[in-house]
Amino acid sequence: MTTNIQWTDETWNPIVGCSRISPGCSKCYAATAAASARLQQFPQYQKVKDWDGTVEFVKNQLLKPLSWKKPKKIFVCSMSDLFHENVPDEWIDKVMAVAAICPQHTFQILTKRPERALEYFTSENRFACIDYQAYEILRADRAPYYREHPVVKLPLKNVWIGTTVENQAMANKRIPLLLQIPAVIRWLSVEPLLGEIDLREAGMIQRLISDNYEWENISEEISWVVVGGESGSGARPCNLAWMRSLARQCQDAEVPAFVKQLGSRPFYLKCGEKYPYKISDKKGGVITDFPEDLQIRQFPKL
Ligand code: SF4
Repeated sequence: MTTNIQWTDETWNPIVGCSRISPGCSKCYAATAAASARLQQFPQYQKVKDWDGTVEFVKNQLLKPLSWKKPKKIFVCSMSDLFHENVPDEWIDKVMAVAAICPQHTFQILTKRPERALEYFTSENRFACIDYQAYEILRADRAPYYREHPVVKLPLKNVWIGTTVENQAMANKRIPLLLQIPAVIRWLSVEPLLGEIDLREAGMIQRLISDNYEWENISEEISWVVVGGESGSGARPCNLAWMRSLARQCQDAEVPAFVKQLGSRPFYLKCGEKYPYKISDKKGGVITDFPEDLQIRQFPKL
């Protein structure tokens, strides 16, 4: 599905359905979209409309990336969390197998459940399970184009693994887990940004390595940070100062940053000041509306 998410080219949803897990989920756009009249025309969305943890495998979506010849950045499971507890390992293996078969694309995965992702990627026989699914996909006539059986080696070079951290508590919990996941690119989505976040406290920029307060620099282990405010009706306000602080932390640690959107209630609203810039869309996603110092749209260095 083509998308207006600025940091990707396509969304791909071989799995749909999820349930809320932390404050960032309270206005989950996927839950709202799944219940909309437009998506309720499709049987897979009718089954997950209560957003109660029911998940559906959408067979006719699985092979879509094989039909895209031009290299694309693909946001995997924008209508689910690939590592939700109800998603069986076998479904994740199928998703990874498609990524292995399509080295021309970049698969961008985002989860709020990095503990499950860590367990999955470090489990015994993972390589063999993904390789088996790749074999199954290619053996069947269903593959729309002929492909060589890929040499599956973990971590896959074209898979970026990210976690969402909407506040300090989630950063402190999820970043240390993400840092343990074997991945070529690890990234953070700080959206919706709900408060000030100190990445050093979360162990992203430096890690305490001895009792004598010695620190080692580990910022190179996170390759990308996406930041954005909340949008939509009832959106929580996002203070410009929080965004600036994150942009500065990334710059100091030489981590590429991407300011996606200001959100629907940007900046000074919370303390009574009016946002001094023009907002052209309801998500605050037009970069030319941003204050100059936040016009940052960088991608990971590959
Ligand atoms: S994890 Fe993502 S998809 Fe699932 S409820 Fe939260 S915001 Fe929605």
